[in-house]
Amino acid sequence: MRTYDVTEEDRLMIKKAYDTLAKARVEGNFFHTVGCCLKTRQGNFYTGVNCDCIHGSCAEFIAVGNAVSCGEHELDTIVSVHPDGPAGLFSPCGNCRQMLMEYSPEVKVILADEKGEIIKTDIRELLPLAWTRLPTGDLMH
Ligand SMILES: [Zn+2]
Repeated sequence: MRTYDVTEEDRLMIKKAYDTLAKARVEGNFFHTVGCCLKTRQGNFYTGVNCDCIHGSCAEFIAVGNAVSCGEHELDTIVSVHPDGPAGLFSPCGNCRQMLMEYSPEVKVILADEKGEIIKTDIRELLPLAWTRLPTGDLMH
């Protein structure tokens, strides 16, 4: 798997994700258990938490929605956190991997590897042979 150095800025993103999660948590309420921090190519940070309900949304979707609603569509790096996750991180689910691939196939993801070490890798590494749109923008059937 292709990996990149985990930088101080990456560790700052982990802190921002935890700060966001801390603001969203309510004692005795488990609606918000995952925090997320996204850096765009412009260098700005956007955060999100999962919104749990029968058709809830992952924190990654909220963070991406936050960025694009501010006009930033090029994603650089994303990280999600959960206090019980390996290294305190949370691996994006399959749906989020597909969403990230479609929004920004060059985005990098910070997560823990099998040994619990923090790594940074490409979304393409996490979703090999991914479904993609045709160059025309049409859906591929
Ligand atoms: Zn997800």
